[in-house]
Amino acid sequence: MRILVTGAGGFIGHHLVTYLKAQGHWVRGADLKKPEYAPTDADEFSVCDLRERAAADAAAQGVDEVYALAADMGGMGYISANHYTILSSNALININTLEGALRAGVKRYFYTSSACVYPEYKQTSADVVPLKEDDAYPAQPQDAYGWEKLLTERLCLHANEEKRITARIVRFHNIFGPQGTWDGGREKAPAAMCRKVAFAELSGNPEVEIWGDGKQTRSFCYIDDCVEGISRLMRSDHAEPLNLGQDRMVSIDQLADLVAAAAGVQIVKKHVPGPQGVRGRNSDNSKLRAVLGWEPRISLEEGLKRTYAWVREEVRRKHFPKAAARTS
Ligand code: NAD
Repeated sequence: MRILVTGAGGFIGHHLVTYLKAQGHWVRGADLKKPEYAPTDADEFSVCDLRERAAADAAAQGVDEVYALAADMGGMGYISANHYTILSSNALININTLEGALRAGVKRYFYTSSACVYPEYKQTSADVVPLKEDDAYPAQPQDAYGWEKLLTERLCLHANEEKRITARIVRFHNIFGPQGTWDGGREKAPAAMCRKVAFAELSGNPEVEIWGDGKQTRSFCYIDDCVEGISRLMRSDHAEPLNLGQDRMVSIDQLADLVAAAAGVQIVKKHVPGPQGVRGRNSDNSKLRAVLGWEPRISLEEGLKRTYAWVREEVRRKHFPKAAARTS
């Protein structure tokens, strides 16, 4: 097939392009930028701004399927401080991309929503009840990022109802792995924690800063499981939004300890004020298991081991070039 992946210069999009190429498809990537950490495997790459309708129209020309991953996004620090920019940019990107796909006669469309759609009132305790797909309504996402995801989910659902296209909708729960943003302000918790622990290891200062009291909870899903889940959902006949994540909940303090264990480094946690997002969040994977007959299987320990090795090397090259590279 001929496939467009938007956001192909970003973390998940880059890995998805590699996965789709390995399956033998022809792939066009589209993004504001090319991938930062490794060359793309895409056959064609359009550097473009999907907030512009003409760019989205051009990107969708001649493809059978679209995976829409482009978004202005980042970790809690970024999402909680840029509501207007995120809502307006992402609404433009997603309306243009879906409209462009409809005009180009694309058959199948994949939209990447987020656990950030779930209402704040269901996530007030660290010991949270795992979130089911139906919990999204009555809607009250914490951030504009989540409101926009709900809007585009609805666009896709109505496009399905009107038989304009076959759309599939996923709600990711904290995807992590190598080649994700690890510094600069948009990084998410696992990459940020790997960076902080790598600094502790390479500088010899064991102090690691943690935003808040460290008791806030999340679940984390490794990138290889994520791209496999995307592929399975795209081929399924499930038209409603579906969670895709791990259902093992850990606190941010536990995440720090797991990264330190993966690194073989002793750390001293220092809790500092900072944006924390909702108090607790976990995925209910009942529907995922029922619909796909599958669920993510790479353990958090294994995923963090692979991610730490990659982030440590990035930190070493950029900040400690004289330190030795690890051999294992
Ligand atoms: P990412 O930030 O690494 O990738 C997004 C890409 O979109 C970036 O490369 C960015 O340059 C591109 N982009 C932004 N604005 C654009 C524009 N105007 N035109 C063209 N491209 C533009 O993020 P990611 O982690 O790879 O996430 C991919 C998708 O999955 C996003 O839609 C995100 O909201 C969603 N998601 C991710 C997570 C996660 O844990 N990573 C969780 C929930 C949902």
